[in-house]
Amino acid sequence: MSNEQPGLFAEIKEPEMPKKPEEIVVAKAYAPFLPGVKEAESYPEIKDYGQLGELARDCQRCRLREGCKQVVFGNGNIRSGILFIGEGPGQDEDLQGIPFVGRAGKLLNKILEAAEFTREEVYIANVVKCRPPGNRLPSPDEVKECRNYLEAQIRIIKPRIVVCLGALACQTVIDSKAKIGQTRGKWFLRNGIKIMATYHPAALLRNENYKRPTWDDFKLIRDEYKKLTLKDF
Ligand code: URA
Repeated sequence: MSNEQPGLFAEIKEPEMPKKPEEIVVAKAYAPFLPGVKEAESYPEIKDYGQLGELARDCQRCRLREGCKQVVFGNGNIRSGILFIGEGPGQDEDLQGIPFVGRAGKLLNKILEAAEFTREEVYIANVVKCRPPGNRLPSPDEVKECRNYLEAQIRIIKPRIVVCLGALACQTVIDSKAKIGQTRGKWFLRNGIKIMATYHPAALLRNENYKRPTWDDFKLIRDEYKKLTLKDF
């Protein structure tokens, strides 16, 4: 049997509590969150956010680092209960070293604000941390290398909700075969973390028809986050 974390193509319900003591299975202390990621490759020795950022900033593991100005590791509240994941830095992000600061980022800020989030309270990262040349889609081998940093970010930040912005994040987090149009707007559960995909803000800039479903998704995300903050803080 493969020990890779499987994808989540079907919606998963919260497991029922085992009733008898003999049914209780002791869970492994840590199982990778992202499908296909191996624990040993996702920097398990690193427990500290700053240390992980330094490691990523020195990374030369794929060709993207040669062509970009800087590594855009992530930004926001590292104790946040919610993590938003985009695709990869564009030109503005590469210049400023912060995710989602260009046109798509400005739209994301507006959506976040409408859903009663502040940028300061959430954490935002990308699947790949270096800008692909000409803003092309990151290639599968680039994603395979870089998702180990994303895995480690998730392990350290421990969000309760993960939101995938667009198809690449959806396929990296939920299932490699997932189609964003069919997957968005539904809750998935893995390792106790709730996951939802929605359209990428850049897609909304290209096609107005995505605005309504994206807003519907953000209302669900807002409501789930509110439940979480009422319960936990
Ligand atoms: N698009 C992304 O996916 N991420 C960014 O940081 C900016 C634009």
